[in-house]
Amino acid sequence: SVPAVPAVVGAQLRVPLVTGGSAEYANLDHGASAPCLNAVRDAVNELLPWYASVHRGAGFASQVCTRVYEGARETLRRFVGARRTDSVIFTRNTTDALNLLAAALPADTSVVVFDTEHHAALLPWAGERVHHLGIPESPQEAVRLLDAALAECADGPKLAVLTGASNVTGELWPVAELARVAREHGARTVLDAAQLAPHRPVRIADLGVDHAVLSGHKLYAPFGAGALVGRDDWLDRAEPYLAGGGATRSVPDAGEIDWNTGPERHEAGSPNTVGVHALAKACEVLAEHAEAIEGHEDLLLRRLRAGLATVPGLRELGLFGPEHDRVGVVSFTVDGQDPGLLAAALSAEHGIGVRDGLFCAHRAVRHLLAGTDAQRAVRISLGLGTTVEHVDRIVTALRGLVAHGPQWSYELDGGRWVP
Ligand code: PMP
Repeated sequence: SVPAVPAVVGAQLRVPLVTGGSAEYANLDHGASAPCLNAVRDAVNELLPWYASVHRGAGFASQVCTRVYEGARETLRRFVGARRTDSVIFTRNTTDALNLLAAALPADTSVVVFDTEHHAALLPWAGERVHHLGIPESPQEAVRLLDAALAECADGPKLAVLTGASNVTGELWPVAELARVAREHGARTVLDAAQLAPHRPVRIADLGVDHAVLSGHKLYAPFGAGALVGRDDWLDRAEPYLAGGGATRSVPDAGEIDWNTGPERHEAGSPNTVGVHALAKACEVLAEHAEAIEGHEDLLLRRLRAGLATVPGLRELGLFGPEHDRVGVVSFTVDGQDPGLLAAALSAEHGIGVRDGLFCAHRAVRHLLAGTDAQRAVRISLGLGTTVEHVDRIVTALRGLVAHGPQWSYELDGGRWVP
């Protein structure tokens, strides 16, 4: 039986179908944003009466919020298994966290990055010292590519950008091995844990990773907060990410501004206290139920992949082979079928939400589609709201769509199929 996991808001939401009536919404798009945990909603409701400014007020509510906000740093540090000395900087999301790190790199840092990365991890690095590693076909090749590229880097600081789990294929990357090779070359590592953290525990100290980033909205805390966790020396020496209140110790009438060190240096302006509280609560709940979450997903993923294997012409996308360990994300194409039309019909006729496209990882998806007629793929991503019925429903729906086509007619409107 499938282990029970923490409940999410909107678990039994009903959505209208074009074919008449309604269906319980099957959200199979957790990879885009995960629904809010009931426990997160409750924690937010509890905080809202005390909602006030952080760090700036003498009043009781301000003290409560400051305690909540600062306490959340410790929760995040524990959640990613960081070192005691690591800092936690709150950001808007993963993209923001990676751009912050990119802006804080010492001059002349060489950056090595695989072309498979999500654009958030692929694009923030600028300049001549960015080395693109191409696309490996196996975890061993990934390690070899990184080793060779770091050997070629000029002297000076180096950073290797790693991903924990792909948001396209769900495949797990050999992070510990990659981090070991990086260390041998004196390079630091940053782990994009946006897709890993909702599914598996992240332990950056054990992995030997220097920095990690994640997004609350992918972690069942949809309130616009993310984090950059890790070593603080580069960050303490960098220009503040945002200039403004909270980032300074003193602003003299003339002369040098005395900027803070520590997280405050990069968190100018009134912070997203509610979002940070929600993120920390989600981290607590996910950590507490890690085993059940993995068990639930493992069973559903097996069932899904076994079902998808019965859909004629369906090809699962993957770099490292079908047996390679992955989280609950499966992208695919179906021979002769338009992925956008499949996704539209799944929604309109079956009440199933999936995503189609290139998933902000254009190079990776184009590589995976090379040699086929497809320009895009469909992605199913499982999560805590997923049930056996959702999995069975999408498999049955896909088999029907492939055999008979949609029941309704659709037209293209701005590149999207609409009923
Ligand atoms: N990296 C990965 C692996 C992701 O899945 C995502 C979100 N899809 C991001 C980075 C970017 O996250 P955000 O949009 O929250 O900044």
